[in-house]
Amino acid sequence: MVAELVKRGITDQRVLGAMLEIPRHIFVEEAMSAQAYSDGSLPIGEKQTISQPYIVAKMTQLLELSGREKVLELGTGSGYQAAVLATLADRVCTVERIRPLALKARKALDSLRLLNVNLKIGDGTEGWPEEAPFDAILVTAGAPHLPDCLVQQLAPGGRLVIPVGDRIDQRLLLVTKGMDGSVATEECDDCRFVRLIGKNGWNDEQ
Ligand code: SAM
Repeated sequence: MVAELVKRGITDQRVLGAMLEIPRHIFVEEAMSAQAYSDGSLPIGEKQTISQPYIVAKMTQLLELSGREKVLELGTGSGYQAAVLATLADRVCTVERIRPLALKARKALDSLRLLNVNLKIGDGTEGWPEEAPFDAILVTAGAPHLPDCLVQQLAPGGRLVIPVGDRIDQRLLLVTKGMDGSVATEECDDCRFVRLIGKNGWNDEQ
């Protein structure tokens, strides 16, 4: 899997190292474990998916983590992305709206003794104001727009990666906040995520 990521252009050695270290099969259903190291997304129940390894690597690489950061992830899903972040940053706060997925993810993270992950069940489109500011924010579900509150919860010098687009196709945006508070946005890649549902995302019926 990691050799495939290198072929596809992932160059950050820390990201490749983390993805070599975290066993992805722990985060998928047993029946799918034979496919755990292929470069594809897989169903995890509740009509949700564990993201494709390439997109996990690409998004993580865009955050340029050094190991000292406090990171917010929205959309815990299986917990795999949170585990990768937890090996690359100081602390991870992750939010999942679907309780059974959050409980499963917590178990998987605990089995790897990733004690620097704080997991909350709720609507991540509001961020996590009590824990802000964050040095990095990663949104792993497709949003209709960039929620203002997430930019507000980003620390000066921070980086935010979010898929923004319609219900099917999105563009991966990298939002950077300067030390003076200025905000710049760059489009990085095409992607296809399940929807970010909540107050500042899609509504459930759309
Ligand atoms: N990062 C995940 C992983 O490593 O398995 C994959 C995330 S999956 C593509 C998207 C997840 O976002 C789903 O589990 C979904 O329930 C969750 N989600 C959607 N809207 C959300 C919201 N407002 N707050 C928190 N989680 C949300």
